[in-house]
Amino acid sequence: MTGLLPTSIVGSLPKPVWLAEPEKLWSPWKMEAGQLAEGKRDALVLSCAEQHRAGLDIVSDGEQTRQHFVTTFIEQLSGVDFARRETVTIRNRYEASVPTVVGPVAREKPVFVDDARHLRAHTDRPIKWALPGPLTMVDTLYDAHYRSREKLAWEFAAVLNQEARELQAAGVNIIQFDEPAFNVFFDEVNDWGVAALERAIEGLNCETAVHICYGYGIKANTDWKATLGSEWRQYEEIFPRLQTSGVDLVSLECHNSRVPMDLIELIRGKKVMVGAIDVASNRIETPEEVANVLRSALQFVDPDKLYPCTNCGMAPLPREIARGKLKALSEGAELVRRELTGVQASPRESSTHHRAGETVAAS
Ligand SMILES: [Zn+2]
Repeated sequence: MTGLLPTSIVGSLPKPVWLAEPEKLWSPWKMEAGQLAEGKRDALVLSCAEQHRAGLDIVSDGEQTRQHFVTTFIEQLSGVDFARRETVTIRNRYEASVPTVVGPVAREKPVFVDDARHLRAHTDRPIKWALPGPLTMVDTLYDAHYRSREKLAWEFAAVLNQEARELQAAGVNIIQFDEPAFNVFFDEVNDWGVAALERAIEGLNCETAVHICYGYGIKANTDWKATLGSEWRQYEEIFPRLQTSGVDLVSLECHNSRVPMDLIELIRGKKVMVGAIDVASNRIETPEEVANVLRSALQFVDPDKLYPCTNCGMAPLPREIARGKLKALSEGAELVRRELTGVQASPRESSTHHRAGETVAAS
């Protein structure tokens, strides 16, 4: 669908200062109901234009219309009471006050489909849309109805499948499921987590991805990472099952992590979105640093299956930093692309490649 080493982001980008408080994860909206919908749409178009300008090959919405990567989706479902909160431990790591499942969960209406159409109208490039994965959704709620994580996951998978089919019809090329919980609950992943994901992608013709990371750069996550030792081998527990799954792409955290790159060998055959941008640091990578991560991954991924990406979402970063990181990703990928194709860099040529007929609309 694209040339060699197509670049993309995992999901979120910082929101404009007029839409939500900057440099804050899960930041509340600054606009009121009537104007908010328009504000979100404008931010989505800006985010699309920034990805164009940086030269990214696959464009996302930057998650400009959602406050939280899991709960914004769940808010639109019936069966979940957001006024009834319980404190649970998320990913065995940090406590949070979460909504309660009080009855059968169902999708009464499309959640992101209009937003996806809006993004589709503003770019000719392939687009990728992120949804939460079933296991991560289950882990972000208190369940007073099904009282079974597995049962609830299957229900969510069916709901996700409805949304995914409509996103595909709206022109989405890659549907990605965010499953950071895959890095924690290995038994559940292998018993039913991947199977639930396969239920969520049932019948889709577009490409599908799963994103599995070590989380945003928040303290609970960085503290947890500090306990993981010199080699992070979590992926090893789940890759064999993922390798046999129907998911096309696997999105991984690789830069500045202690994940041994050779673990990627375990998902040989899958397309791998290699995280070459650290989202837990405000330091902008050099293109050469990005290229080094990609070169290292190329030992274990065929070049036609390597998708340079970020480690995770960039929502909490300052906007200028995020822009710099997008550019570094694009330029780093271009360095490796030239090595692979034997094309010499021309000093007059910008690394950001523009396609004929491309629309970078600003409104
Ligand atoms: Zn992530």
